[in-house]
Amino acid sequence: TPISTNLIDAVRTIPDYPKPGVMFRDITTLLGNARAFRRTVDELVQPWAGAKIDKVAGIEARGFIVGGAVAHQLSAGFVPIRKKGKLPHQTVRMAYALEYGQDEMEMHVDAVHAGERVLLVDDLIATGGTAEGAVKLLRQIGAIVEAACFIVDLPELGGAEKLRAMGVPVRTLMSFE
Ligand code: 5GP
Repeated sequence: TPISTNLIDAVRTIPDYPKPGVMFRDITTLLGNARAFRRTVDELVQPWAGAKIDKVAGIEARGFIVGGAVAHQLSAGFVPIRKKGKLPHQTVRMAYALEYGQDEMEMHVDAVHAGERVLLVDDLIATGGTAEGAVKLLRQIGAIVEAACFIVDLPELGGAEKLRAMGVPVRTLMSFE
């Protein structure tokens, strides 16, 4: 694998996936590049080095990969936010907007305690519907959502702006128009 000097070069674009007209930003190539993966995690956590983050919440499924590494780097716990029906213990649920219609996401009711400081992590933010649902879910149980970070931003879709309007600072490492 060539070593990229620029993280954006490590992201692969797949035209017409999952359907015609969509340019899918495939981060598996970035994850598979040792130096790019390490730099991604280092750059994502940089504002919170030494800060008191209790938990990192990762959104299924690519948010688990990035979030796990971020949690380790910050010496924080990791909490999975999953599609409904996947978690074995008692959960809290939140509806969130999809492109067409909606779905529900879940988190274990005791995964985060009221007053804990949480960093939300996913691979990419587009419309922000998914991350907005996760913020609402975390706030519902009294967590403090310190910030949200994503490798990729699709700024034209407005998700990062939506989160900032909810009072959540947003960090992203690259944008695609
Ligand atoms: P949103 O809810 O912000 O519209 O969509 C973001 C969610 O969809 C994230 O969980 C993200 O993983 C997934 N997603 C949407 N488009 C892409 C894409 O082009 N590449 C990747 N890797 N994930 C995407």
